[in-house]
Amino acid sequence: MQGRRWAAVVVGLLCGVAPGAEPAPAQPVTVIRAGTLIDGVSATAKTNQTIVIRGNRIESIGTGAPPAGAKVIDLSGATVLPGMIDSHTHVFLQHEDAGQGGYDVQLLKFPLAYRAARAVVSVRRALEQGFTTLRDVETEGAGYGDVGIKRAIEEGHIPGPRMFVSTRAISSTGGYDLEGYAPEIVVPKGAQLVDGPVEARKAAREQLENGADWLKVYMTHRAWIDGAGKLQSQPTFTVEELKAIVDEAHGWGKKVACHAYTNPGMKRALDGGCDSIEHGLELDEAAVAQMVKQGTWLCPTLAVYYDFWPPENTPEGKVYRKRVEVHEPSFRRAVKAGVKIAFGTDVGGFSWNEPMAKEFPYMVRFGMTPMQAIQSATSRPAEMLGMKGQLGVIAPGALADVVAVSGDPLKDVKALEQVVFVMKDGRVFKERTQSR
Ligand SMILES: [Zn+2]
Repeated sequence: MQGRRWAAVVVGLLCGVAPGAEPAPAQPVTVIRAGTLIDGVSATAKTNQTIVIRGNRIESIGTGAPPAGAKVIDLSGATVLPGMIDSHTHVFLQHEDAGQGGYDVQLLKFPLAYRAARAVVSVRRALEQGFTTLRDVETEGAGYGDVGIKRAIEEGHIPGPRMFVSTRAISSTGGYDLEGYAPEIVVPKGAQLVDGPVEARKAAREQLENGADWLKVYMTHRAWIDGAGKLQSQPTFTVEELKAIVDEAHGWGKKVACHAYTNPGMKRALDGGCDSIEHGLELDEAAVAQMVKQGTWLCPTLAVYYDFWPPENTPEGKVYRKRVEVHEPSFRRAVKAGVKIAFGTDVGGFSWNEPMAKEFPYMVRFGMTPMQAIQSATSRPAEMLGMKGQLGVIAPGALADVVAVSGDPLKDVKALEQVVFVMKDGRVFKERTQSR
């Protein structure tokens, strides 16, 4: 501590600047002309708006002339919206293709530096697609690598979104991969496996100490179809174990995301006080009512369950089909009841070369309006992340994360795949010039 303070003083003397002696340099002013503006909060879009950005903040929005000397970015032929937020990503995963070794090979054969190098590409891909913020929900065996990627982005070494990271994730013995190896062979696990409230709290403390912004907990694991044809999933932690994690996280001012498919794990996740349910495949009326009452978020990740179905006549193939069969009505029930919903893709589970925006059409097909779907990827998750008014909105005082698409996403939400402009923190990352 002492050493660090001295270092700061020496730097100040070498620069010949006494602290606070000079006014801050004038911040550059950029103006965006928006043909159509979806601000992330309002129920309708506005046309022909001028967004004034000073430094890394949005200063004003209106129809007046731009300030003299400002750099003007002409997006008058595009739809401008806040930088999008994906609340369920895995930057350390590269597609679980069975033909390429699936999930296991990534933990068994990929050196950490190789995984980190590919994570650098993942975050760049997200930013290119207009996702200026990610909640990355665990590294899948890559330890605290997400904390390093986040730092490299924040320090400007690599391009990427703002990151909220959850490090290793937590589950119980028998509650996460890798599995199916001879018992006498020790294989790495994709999450930190602990048992009992004491160990659970200790894992939470370790992960929080090492930089977790969120904790990710697996409340269900294996899934199968029972004799009555119903989707079942194995519960992991008891309510008591989860409560220890949630209590610890909340004490640090942090939150807990719980992967949960069906009861009883789902019920335990809600009774344990988790802040967000991930996937939520089977949400009955009681679960939805409890989520509304407790203010629990739902991050549904719909599209990913339509990928890579094994053959219909296999046990796995049956589970995959049953998952989507129950997921759709659960999502519709949640939308109707007013559960708070955050857009999430589970990208990494599928290839980073596929569009993350492929989630939007499913949300709309299953009951959201395009505007609701857009807000679930902008102002709503900003609220979940404790960044209301700062992220996911184009409004005075917000951080200048701004994107644009060439079409009208309110007519066809697939237009969100066509991102032509990306600004993060007031700096342009991507600008495709328009042909007129
Ligand atoms: Zn996931």
